[in-house]
Order: sequence, then structure tokens, then C-alpha cells
Amino acid sequence: MIKKTLFVALGALTFLGFAAGCKSKEPVEEPVDTTAAVTPEVPICQSCAMPLTKPEDFGTEADGSPSKDYCIYCYADGKFTNPEMTMEQMIEFLAPKWGEWTKRPDLSAEDAKKEIEEVLKGLKRWKMPEVYTS
Ligand SMILES: [Zn+2]
Repeated sequence: MIKKTLFVALGALTFLGFAAGCKSKEPVEEPVDTTAAVTPEVPICQSCAMPLTKPEDFGTEADGSPSKDYCIYCYADGKFTNPEMTMEQMIEFLAPKWGEWTKRPDLSAEDAKKEIEEVLKGLKRWKMPEVYTS
């Protein structure tokens, strides 16, 4: 019984080794699509919604590690760089940049502000406490 199990296991291992050996000799058939390497959902700063595309876009935690949520402009050394900022101020601040970020340079400031408000409402920084709504 034990012998048989061993034999089967060895057989499976041999087969796997064989398959792996074969595979490594074959040329890579799937074309490498460089555009697919870019994740479809770019993370955005959870304070200002800036797309975080490069490692240097990310803010820093108190221990110097990169923040998972915030950009370098909003968050450094574990703190918001502008903790007093209100959502309204952030909207004003972002309106001129919004068209560029969303690749619509012709977007009007008014439309941009409406959109920004919707986006900011869903971000971590602005949906946290009730202070902003009550
Ligand atoms: Zn930010």
C-alpha cells in the first residue's frame, strides 16, 4: 500500500518535472502587452483625488514608509500637510487642475467643481467624521 502511494507520488513528480521542463523550453507564446501591465484602476489620493501613478506621488507615514492612501502634497510624516483645509477649499483648489487630471482640458470650472464634490465625498478624508455634514 505504502509502496504504491510512493510510486504514484513519484510518478506525479516526474510528470510535473517533465511538464515544467518542456514548458521552459518553449518560447513564450503569449504576446507581452505592455498596456495591460498598467493597472486599470489607478489609485487616487484619498484627500485630493490626485492619481497616484508613481512611487514618489505617495505621501509618507511617520516612520517614513509610503502612505497607502494619500499623496505627497496632502500627507507627509503621518500628518495632513494642511489639516485645517475644508472640503470646499479643496474643491476650489482642485478645480483648475481637474480637467487636466481627467484628460478633459475643456471642462468648465463649474462642471469640474460639481464632479470634484462628488468624488471627494467618497474619499476617506472627507467621509470620516460627521462634522462635515452636521
Ligand atoms: Zn492628495
